[in-house]
Amino acid sequence: MANLTEQERAKLLDSIRDVKDFPKEGIVFKDITTLLNNPEALDILMSHLESRYRGYNLDFIVGIDARGFIFGSILADRLKVGFVPARKRGKLPYRTISESYSLEYGSDEVEIHLDAFRGIDGAKVLVIDDLIATGGTAGAVVNLVKRAGGVAVESCFIVELKFLSGRERVASPIYSVLSY
Ligand code: AMP
Repeated sequence: MANLTEQERAKLLDSIRDVKDFPKEGIVFKDITTLLNNPEALDILMSHLESRYRGYNLDFIVGIDARGFIFGSILADRLKVGFVPARKRGKLPYRTISESYSLEYGSDEVEIHLDAFRGIDGAKVLVIDDLIATGGTAGAVVNLVKRAGGVAVESCFIVELKFLSGRERVASPIYSVLSY
């Protein structure tokens, strides 16, 4: 597995834009649209993830609504494995299983299709999202993977906000490319 060089890491860090006070005051939003529209940065990132996960013999990548869909789909195509969307409640058309998780105020719910892993018992699954903050979302998705008969071999994030200790809420190994 190829590690990022310092130069590559600096290019990735430079390509992510900080937007202050979005979506509400006090939050610094890590905007990855400036990574997506930068082909050099996107290729550095996706080549790194491709090389990391090539040896994992994955069956599926589960991308988390919505930015996890982008990175997850690109990686699934590079590795030639299936892609499964984990969506916010009410968006998936067929029969689903759902899991709720607590937010700062209230709660939210994520779902996957009951047959997302096509009946492959013990399917090897990578969960991916752009960012882990409190870990509530990813924790719920990892629980869904298990309930659907899969094994979450790792959860991968482009950015980890370490000071929020989100990884403690996720019952799988964690890999983050960049952390703050
Ligand atoms: P959490 O469940 O708290 O780990 O939140 C993770 C989800 O919220 C991810 O899907 C992120 O895309 C989004 N998110 C939370 N905080 C931020 C942030 N500071 N910048 C960008 N996205 C964020």
